[in-house]
Amino acid sequence: MNNSMCKITKAAVTTCEGMSRTLQAGHGGGVTEELLFNARFTKAIGRIFILRSGEFKKNGIVLNFCPFCGQRIYQKPKKEGK
Ligand SMILES: [Zn+2]
Repeated sequence: MNNSMCKITKAAVTTCEGMSRTLQAGHGGGVTEELLFNARFTKAIGRIFILRSGEFKKNGIVLNFCPFCGQRIYQKPKKEGK
């Protein structure tokens, strides 16, 4: 049992041990980490974790919370400055 937890920082999401192990093992399924892009500006505005499994293997499900430590891992996309 590890006690590391996921944490959202300004630049990225730090993952706990369970999550980082899952990400490493994710080939053709499982949980992957993907950058979220703004459609107008080609820069990443956030980072999301997607679970691909079973009937959701094609489109995937965005994880709001880490299945290992229960911490919030979904970053709300930042609003564009006016
Ligand atoms: Zn976690």
